[in-house]
Amino acid sequence: MSVIHLVDVTKKYGEITALDHLNLSIEDKEYVCVLGPTGAGKTTLLRIIAGLLEPDEGEINIAGRLVNELPPEERNAVYMFQQFALFPHMNVWQNVSFSPVIKDYHENRVKRLTLEILEMVKLADRRDAFPHELSGGMQQRVALARGIASGARILLLDEPLGALDARLRVDLRAQLRKLAEDQGLTTIHVTHDQEEALMIADRVVVIRKGRIEQMGTPHEIYTSPQSAFIMSFIGGANFIEGNVIRVEDSGSIIEIRGSHKIHVSDISRTVGEKIVVAIRLEDISIGMVDVPESNNFSGMIESTMFIGSSIEYVIKLDNGITVSSKKLISDAYKSQKSNEPIVVSFLPETCYVFEYPKIGLLKEIEAI
Ligand code: ADP
Ligand code: MG
Repeated sequence: MSVIHLVDVTKKYGEITALDHLNLSIEDKEYVCVLGPTGAGKTTLLRIIAGLLEPDEGEINIAGRLVNELPPEERNAVYMFQQFALFPHMNVWQNVSFSPVIKDYHENRVKRLTLEILEMVKLADRRDAFPHELSGGMQQRVALARGIASGARILLLDEPLGALDARLRVDLRAQLRKLAEDQGLTTIHVTHDQEEALMIADRVVVIRKGRIEQMGTPHEIYTSPQSAFIMSFIGGANFIEGNVIRVEDSGSIIEIRGSHKIHVSDISRTVGEKIVVAIRLEDISIGMVDVPESNNFSGMIESTMFIGSSIEYVIKLDNGITVSSKKLISDAYKSQKSNEPIVVSFLPETCYVFEYPKIGLLKEIEAI
């Protein structure tokens, strides 16, 4: 049975529809990342589940019970927002034991529970420190410990790693995940960071403009994006518009700018249809010679960007289209002279084909 079950949840702020008839079920002990650009409705969603905000329409069910009328403290869910608010005048121990103390647990039980949770977040030795004496990552762990000590079985985390520096974010991802697993918690973790979501989640729910655009395992979302938006937002790609001119058993042929043709393996489209071909940056090869069995286009390298373990090339093709290619340093195209003629190629099976978006390609792939 689902622990959280939302039916047709809608929330408007005046003219803005923050959540638009959203349906979502979260299983017991599942770790779900809700991923979406800024303004997609992520915070609104968490606050509605937590009971801090009322929906205009729709049902919120937690553990099989309709909770629309229940106050936050009776929902068994703890909402933790972006900048973790610790009580500044209380030390670590007092912050974490706050909830068990006000619940009037027996003194020994409070001690045992607080110590156990502090050990879990590896802060038992800092129990006397005040929040301002701790690093951002430590404060984040104290806040998490406090949330867990509250006894809630559902964690609602709103960009929990957002305020931390890059290295710490990555370290804490795995810890957060493990903590939730060890405690058997059901977690909804909201983020706008696709890498964070793919790495940490059992299931990713991508929302945009208050609607669910796609959900699935991280692998499904990355390998089977259902729209150009998803492909652009998760992983990124080159997008080329074209028309289907032939569909055969083994693939289709797409005509793009300059009457050039792209061969794709996809056969789900019909002749005459306007579509978008999308190719991941890592699927575009750069070389000096034509590669048989693939799509070959000549062009020039316009710019080269070094990004650590990989290199990104921007290539202007002779037909005027610009494409980007990303290669690991070890497979990098050796000559890096700009204005040198080169050939780019990609295999038909690496091409994704999407219906041409009604709102236009540029609007579709911009991250809002
Ligand atoms: P996210 O957390 O994904 O960035 P939010 O849930 O905060 O998105 O916001 C969704 C939309 O609702 C945005 O367009 C935002 O501007 C709007 N919004 C959020 N809170 C309010 C509010 N209190 N008053 C008016 N508009 C709001
Ligand atoms: Mg938000």
